Amino acid sequence: MTKSREAEEHKCVRPPEQHVEDLRLKLLRAPPAMLIGGRWRPASSRSAFEVEDPSTGTLVTTAAAGGHEDIELAVRAARSAFHNGPWSRLSGARRMGLLMALAQALEEDELDLSFLEAIDTGHTLSSIRNGDVPLALRALRDNAGWAAKISGETPMHPAEQAAFSYYIREPIGVVGIITPWNAPLLMVLQKLSAALAAGCTVVIKPSELAPLSALRIGQACDKVGIPPGVVNIVTGTGEEAGRALTEHPDVNLISFTGSTVVGKSIMAAAASTNLKRVVLELGGKSPVLVFADADLDKAARSIVSEITFKSGQYCAAGSRVFAQASIQDALLTRMRAIMDGMRIGPGTDANTDMGPMICAKQRQRAAEIIGHSIQAGACVVRGGHARVGGGYFFEPTILTNASAQMRVSREEIFGPALVVTPVPDEASLDEVAALANDSIYGLSAKIWTRQIRIAHGLIHRLEAGQVVVNGGGGEEVLPFGGVKQSGYGRENGRNGVDAYTEIKSIRLGF
Ligand code: NAD
Repeated sequence: MTKSREAEEHKCVRPPEQHVEDLRLKLLRAPPAMLIGGRWRPASSRSAFEVEDPSTGTLVTTAAAGGHEDIELAVRAARSAFHNGPWSRLSGARRMGLLMALAQALEEDELDLSFLEAIDTGHTLSSIRNGDVPLALRALRDNAGWAAKISGETPMHPAEQAAFSYYIREPIGVVGIITPWNAPLLMVLQKLSAALAAGCTVVIKPSELAPLSALRIGQACDKVGIPPGVVNIVTGTGEEAGRALTEHPDVNLISFTGSTVVGKSIMAAAASTNLKRVVLELGGKSPVLVFADADLDKAARSIVSEITFKSGQYCAAGSRVFAQASIQDALLTRMRAIMDGMRIGPGTDANTDMGPMICAKQRQRAAEIIGHSIQAGACVVRGGHARVGGGYFFEPTILTNASAQMRVSREEIFGPALVVTPVPDEASLDEVAALANDSIYGLSAKIWTRQIRIAHGLIHRLEAGQVVVNGGGGEEVLPFGGVKQSGYGRENGRNGVDAYTEIKSIRLGF
């Protein structure tokens, strides 16, 4: 029996609980370290911070608390690898080969990676194994494929003209990658693979609330032979390590996913330092428009599944539901019944349908926004409050009678809470779109109808980077990003990789 087959069999026979316990023990014993210039090292200050399990509120491990000095070292390592190292000079095909090898190594590590993500974020194992991991590997392989296809253009020139011009794309340089905690593995791999495909070198600053999968990716980069200094990972807080990275004068681009408020501060830091480029994937408050002719069972299942996926901590989740008045009650009954049947528990438990929120602060914020709106007159159909006991659990929630001015209607709650508002059946498409567009955000919008006239009419009226009709599909192959204060720039595909390049125009005379 080969070694890897033996390991596979071992994995199969070992009960999942034991696997998680072994992983937890390893994490508790692991010294806090980050990756700079190909070396695993503690923070320059030697300080560390605690990473906790949101399902229990207990300690998982400690991570190195990187600061200004560590960012300085990491940016220097990335710059040196960019200028002197082979990465930016490797052929696209070679970069593609190494990125494909990285995908293979991570795929072989899928079980540990999934448990690690479940312990770190509290998200359910099934959502990670069926969602985050395959999506992340798909993005990684897709971006790897682009490495060999980055190209410029050559305009046609008359044959008699003694000149020739064209443009090329070059890697932009050193990229700072700053990611949130709600999909740590996916966010890091999406950005990392696009930047590396383009020939850039990177400094990753993962969220301090869920840094573990990023560190595991760093180990895999080492393993497959990505040269030292090409991928650097500095763990630490946003205020220290994140800010130092965004203000660094030798970083060429910051690729950020996170809240709108921090996105704005990153843009300001970029403007006030070296005018580095920014890609911003920010918050959302996405509308869901349900028409009387829709398949209500399917719509109810999809709406609940989105708002409880990652316990509502999913940027594109539809959280403002506008239902035609004649079917609002039927929709509410269905959504409530689905929520009533959900099993809430630790993400690592295979029977869990919805895990906890990420931390006490995030849960407290959700409770405050919802409580404030209930006091102002919103009605609770179900939930509305945190669950008592250990871990940061929150009841799946449905509210009605919330005005468009209430906090639940305007602010991104980032928790498992829906606001449902009736719309007169006779309202015009313009009136429906105006309700949907009444938000500072424009990340995603969903439509439920069987009538193509309605769907098509709304697609053009909705202010969103993405419109999903009747549940949609094939998300991972499309450009993803927002309009308005949901950010700008697009991830995935050619657009996503091109963002990490700079265009150079060449005019040849002879
Ligand atoms: P956040 O903005 O608080 O933090 C995101 C990252 O920024 C973290 O790594 C954090 O340490 C860092 N950071 C914080 N302050 C910083 C500063 N001053 N300078 C530099 N870096 C700093 O967001 P979060 O709470 O981790 O994530 C939730 C948010 O992310 C939500 O708003 C959600 O909508 C958004 N999100 C958007 C998308 C998208 O694709 N549009 C995807 C996932 C999450």
